[in-house]
Amino acid sequence: MHSNDSLDIEPSAANRPSTADELAGLVRRQLALLGEDPDREGLLKTPARVAASLQWLTRGYQMSVREVVGDALFAEEHRSMVMVRDVEFYSMCEHHMLPFFGRVHVAYIPDGRIVGLSKLPRIVEMFARRLQVQERLTEQVAAAVEEVLQPSGVGVVVEAVHLCMMMRGVENQSSKTITSALRGVFREDAKTRAEFLNLAHAPSQR
Ligand code: ZN
Repeated sequence: MHSNDSLDIEPSAANRPSTADELAGLVRRQLALLGEDPDREGLLKTPARVAASLQWLTRGYQMSVREVVGDALFAEEHRSMVMVRDVEFYSMCEHHMLPFFGRVHVAYIPDGRIVGLSKLPRIVEMFARRLQVQERLTEQVAAAVEEVLQPSGVGVVVEAVHLCMMMRGVENQSSKTITSALRGVFREDAKTRAEFLNLAHAPSQR
């Protein structure tokens, strides 16, 4: 399992100004290799913009679960399913560095504590803002919720479309990829699993 090593990442060199300059230089070179003229007016500021955009889109590397959750953990005897549906996310596939995006549904059954509801989307955001594959994103969100809350169970469903498939004509344009990660009672108990999957796959209200 790869999930735990990514829970705490030291702030790296990725955000230093010199890194942005170096990235911009590489984008400039990329433009030239693609047959473009990096000195034409429309492209002059592109390398700096792409560098800044890439750093922003991968800022999840600078974040840790501990930081994101902070002190928003509360003792609570509630023992029924808590679910946040339709968390929108944007990520980039690690194979092509092209966007994939969609929705995440996260649920857990507390065992003595709950987390501030807004923290679940923030956990999703933290892992989505990295180079990803959808399967790992799904597992990492489940692992983080499990680590933070030690709940009776966790369920995560991710549904997404991948531009690397759509733009390159690899797949039917409307095909969606769905992944799920189930832990604890969500895996062991058929009734809990069915309740979760029904809620996760119910038509969106929006
Ligand atoms: Zn891809």
